[in-house]
Amino acid sequence: MKKSNDSIYDYIIVGAGLFGAVFTQQAVKAGKKCLIIDKRRQIGGNLYTENIDSINVHKYGAHIFHTSNREIWNYINQFADFNNFINSPLANYNGKLYNLPFNMNTFYQLWGTQTPLEAKAKIAEQCKKYDYITHPANLEEHALKMCGDDIYNTFIKGYTEKQWGRRATELPSFIIKRIPLRFVYNNNYFNDTYQGIPVGGYTPIIESMIKGAEVQINTDYFENKTYFDSLAPKMIFTGRIDEFFDFKFGKLEYRSLHFEHERLEINDFQGNAVVNYNEFDVPFTRIIEHKHFEFGTQPFTIVSKEFPNEYSKDSEPYYPVNDERNHTILGKYKELAKAYGNISFGGRLAQYAYFDMDDTIEAALEVARKEFKFIK
Ligand SMILES: Cc1cc2nc3c(=O)[nH]c(=O)nc-3n(C[C@H](O)[C@H](O)[C@H](O)COP(=O)(O)OP(=O)(O)OC[C@H]3O[C@@H](n4cnc5c(N)ncnc54)[C@H](O)[C@@H]3O)c2cc1C
Repeated sequence: MKKSNDSIYDYIIVGAGLFGAVFTQQAVKAGKKCLIIDKRRQIGGNLYTENIDSINVHKYGAHIFHTSNREIWNYINQFADFNNFINSPLANYNGKLYNLPFNMNTFYQLWGTQTPLEAKAKIAEQCKKYDYITHPANLEEHALKMCGDDIYNTFIKGYTEKQWGRRATELPSFIIKRIPLRFVYNNNYFNDTYQGIPVGGYTPIIESMIKGAEVQINTDYFENKTYFDSLAPKMIFTGRIDEFFDFKFGKLEYRSLHFEHERLEINDFQGNAVVNYNEFDVPFTRIIEHKHFEFGTQPFTIVSKEFPNEYSKDSEPYYPVNDERNHTILGKYKELAKAYGNISFGGRLAQYAYFDMDDTIEAALEVARKEFKFIK
C-alpha cells in the first residue's frame, strides 16, 4: 500500500457493514480522511433495512439489537432512538403454536405441566431413556440426552436439519453446546439487559456513522485492488479473508439463506414479528412480519420467508461452517494476515465467525481504540 505522505486518504475501509461503519465513525472523529467502499448497491451490510411504504424491511434477516454491555448500548444510542421491542418468537410445528425460548409456557403447551417441578420431572423422565449415551456421537444423541424426545423432535430436529442441510445424526454435537431450558413463564428470547429496535430501521444508523467519509457503493475491492491499495497507507478489511488471499488454501465454507419478501393487503398476518417453522417438510425456517418490530399500524403488511440453502457464488455467505477443515484453513489465512501490519481484518467475514451486533461494535471500537487511543 502507498506511503502516507502521498496518499489521498488516511484509511480505506472495505465493507460498509456495521464493523466498517463503526471504525469509520471513530476515524472521522479522530480527524482522519476515509474512503469506505462496498460491493453491494447499498450500505449497511446485513443490517440493511429498506423503508417500503413506511415499513422498515430487514432485507438480510431479522435484526434485534441486544446487549448487556452498557458502553455499547450508550454508543449505539447516539445514532438512533431504540424502542422497547422484546423478541418473543413463536414456533409452529404441525400447525400448533408454541412459545420460545423453551420455558414454562412451552412446557405447558407440550405437556400441560403447570409448575417447574412438574416440568422438570417430565424432562428428567424423557432424558432417562438416554442415560446410556455417555459420549454423544452426533447432535441427535447430544440433544436427546439433554432434553429428551418431545423437545428434540418438536423444536430441534427439523429446524436444525433445515438450517444445516444435513441430518442431525451427521452433524457434530458441538453445534448445540447447551439447550437453554427456562423454568419461569418468560418468553423474552434474550437474557440481555438492553434490547430494542432502532426507530426508523438500521440504515439511518449506518448513514450517520459514515458521515464525513467518502462512500462508494457498487464497488468491489477485488476488481480494482491495486488502485484501492494505492489510495491509503492503512486499510480496514471486512470482506472474506479467503478471498483476500485468493483462496490459496481453499475456500472457507458457508451456509446461505434466501428471502422471499411479500406485501399482503391485510393489516396483520401473524400477530408477531417472528414465527419459526420447525418441521423439516416446511422448506423455510421462519416468517418475519416486519411491521411488528416497530409496532406498525399500516393497513397492509410485509412478510419475509427465510429459506436456508447451500452457499454458491451467486448467494450471500451467511453462516460459517465450524468444522475442523474450515478451522484448519482459517488458521492458515490468519497466519498470513499477521504479515500485513497496515491492514486490520475485522468483522464476520474477515474473522470467519458469527458475531452479534454488539460484539461487532465492540471489536470495531477496539481496533479504533488501538489506532486513535480514544473512544466516544
Ligand atoms: C440472518 C441473520 C440474522 C442476524 N440477527 C442478528 C440479531 O438479531 N442480533 C444481532 O445482534 N446480530 C444479528 N446478526 C449478526 C449481524 O448481522 C452481524 O453482527 C453484522 O452484520 C456484522 O457486521 P459486519 O460488518 O462484520 O458484516 P457485514 O454486515 O456482512 O458487512 C460486510 C460488508 O462488506 C462488504 N464486502 C464484502 N466483500 C467486499 C469486497 N470485496 N468489496 C467491497 N465490499 C465488500 C459486504 O457487501 C458487506 O456489506 C444476524 C446475522 C444474520 C446472518
